[in-house]
Amino acid sequence: MSANRKPMMMGNWKMNGGWQANQDLMRALRTGLSSSSGVRMGACVPSPYLAQAQSEWQGSGWIWGAQDLSVHEQGAFTGEVSAGMLKDFAVTHVLVGHSERRQYHAETDELVASKAKQALAHGITPIVCVGETLAEREAGQTESVVKRQLAAVIHVVGHCASELVVAYEPVWAIGTGKTATPEQAQAVHAVLRAQLRAATDHADRMTILYGGSMNAANAADLMAQPDIDGGLVGGASLKANDFLQMIRTAQAHAA
Ligand code: PEP
Repeated sequence: MSANRKPMMMGNWKMNGGWQANQDLMRALRTGLSSSSGVRMGACVPSPYLAQAQSEWQGSGWIWGAQDLSVHEQGAFTGEVSAGMLKDFAVTHVLVGHSERRQYHAETDELVASKAKQALAHGITPIVCVGETLAEREAGQTESVVKRQLAAVIHVVGHCASELVVAYEPVWAIGTGKTATPEQAQAVHAVLRAQLRAATDHADRMTILYGGSMNAANAADLMAQPDIDGGLVGGASLKANDFLQMIRTAQAHAA
């Protein structure tokens, strides 16, 4: 990664955890690394546990985010969680367009873009997830797919594009144990950074995360790539020692 940027390691707990397990994990992380020391570190937790994250992590240097939000302000939208509700729990980041939302909840590029806009309107940083499926990669469509997904967001958020965090997550690498090689990931990150450069003067300061079976063993090689600024980490973020090791790796790249 470039010295211009501060690395970020964000966990995505997905629909995992429970009160006791969360407490054990958050306390182990908090005591393992008590200040952020040059790295932004945290986790996107299931919404019912945002209050727990706030009480465990407030003032510790750890940040907590949500995994989704509604495009609506309030009203008759059963099951939805608004940006204002997230703000009540001091949420700083929210995932939008995670491939599991796109795949299992039929989220379109347009809906993802609206969610990003809604988050920004409430002062929450959207982590915009983009990535191709295996079939798309094999068909040579990786670049066009990620560019289309990101373009939809840039189109809707306009000059606020500089406030996004982008996460490149090849769908075939998520939860499969198959990581993109550092070179494969870097190639896509460079495409995304070039696209951001065309949209904003601040692209070189923007954070582009890699996600997809990132773990303590492969983090260093990924972080060594010039356009990889950190990770969005699923499974490995549920293991305190592994995640702490990944954050220390990110710290080493920041130094
Ligand atoms: C994710 O959930 O965004 C993710 C990258 O998962 P994993 O690290 O488990 O592949």
